[in-house]
Amino acid sequence: MFLNQEIVRKKRDGGVLSAEEIQFFVRGITDGSVTEGQIAALAMAVFFNDMNMDERVAFTLAMRDSGQVMEWRSLNLPGPVVDKHSTGGVGDVVSLMLGPMIAACGGFVPMISGRGLGHTGGTLDKFDSIPGYCTVPDPELFRKVVKDVGVAIIGQTAQLAPSDKRFYSIRDTTATVESVAMITGSILSKKLSAGLDALVMDVKVGTGAFMPTFEKSVELAESIVTVGNGAGTRTSALLTEMNESLGPVAGNALEVRLAMDYLTGRARPARLHEVTMALCAEMLILGGLAANEAEARTKLQAGLDSGEAAERFSRMVAALGGPADLIERPDAYLEQAPVTVAVPALQGGFIATVDTRGLGLAVVSLGGGRRRPEDAIDFAVGLSALVELGDAITVGQPLAMVHARTQAAAEQAVREVQAAYHIGAIKPAANPVVYRTIRP
Ligand code: URA
Repeated sequence: MFLNQEIVRKKRDGGVLSAEEIQFFVRGITDGSVTEGQIAALAMAVFFNDMNMDERVAFTLAMRDSGQVMEWRSLNLPGPVVDKHSTGGVGDVVSLMLGPMIAACGGFVPMISGRGLGHTGGTLDKFDSIPGYCTVPDPELFRKVVKDVGVAIIGQTAQLAPSDKRFYSIRDTTATVESVAMITGSILSKKLSAGLDALVMDVKVGTGAFMPTFEKSVELAESIVTVGNGAGTRTSALLTEMNESLGPVAGNALEVRLAMDYLTGRARPARLHEVTMALCAEMLILGGLAANEAEARTKLQAGLDSGEAAERFSRMVAALGGPADLIERPDAYLEQAPVTVAVPALQGGFIATVDTRGLGLAVVSLGGGRRRPEDAIDFAVGLSALVELGDAITVGQPLAMVHARTQAAAEQAVREVQAAYHIGAIKPAANPVVYRTIRP
């Protein structure tokens, strides 16, 4: 038996909390016996005095175990249970292709995805743009789709890591989100509650990334790899480029179309392809489905070329209530915005830098994201044909196409996209697509 205020005091004074103290406090977060003030005080104490790796592992496991933890062993699946998580970005449609691609290679992907946050898009919102697709199936259907199709992408339920829900909402309103220790616990507790054998983390770097600097992205990636493995799940992290939109489109239904074009081979934009392949390859290696990167890539490419990955996507959509012929007839199901206008470049030169966060916020302004949690999303709106860093551009040439609900919204987005693209006289050196891979 501990006293909550003594746990807070110990961390305030720079002490190291025991696993038992952390478990006691997290149980109190879940059952309400710890007050909001105590949670806020502990969060601020951790913000300043940090947690060592043992504390982070205990914190992650206690938060994971505050709710339901899925188990897959009883299904005797003939492959590993694996997943990927990203810190969030713009035009990052990877999950929609990655899940089916891993399924096509023999993995099982129970992906619990989130909504858009701030300027970033959310996988869950993208699936909500598919009529009929159920992102909150009952647990039995979720298990059945994972078993039969190899992949199911759904939303978080209240049963998964409930302590994180309370803790996060208090951090959010007390200026204590930006702590690598707490971000690690928050992300991993939710992901590990899916009962994974292996996890690959995509930590974004750049002007559209959640972490503010390259060094902070590295710190988070290293923390997640150490804590994930410490918590018993094989975990790697890739640091990937987010100094511009990952794909040439941003916006929910537009990104679903891009994902399907990618899976069928109609369009496979180079940077998006490289990040997707790199993350998938790491998953196959961690899951024991490939011995090395070359073998993994050969398998993944075969899954794309044979149409098996596209087939898995279609089966998942149908099994979760969406149209079985979505890939064949996207126009019949995915809404298109009534107003489409080009964004003219205001000067000529090379695309020198992109305020990627600004691009994401332009999508939010169009209605493609939320200003407040209760807002409805307009799935049809967004940006397409985004030019890339280093592209040569002449005055008046389009930087992107805006898809809007109204002319006024389109004009506002045009200004926002123009402000997000900085054009210079010198072609910038190309950035790597994957900066680093961090393994245990
Ligand atoms: N995303 C999360 O899920 N938790 C955090 O703390 C930060 C980002």
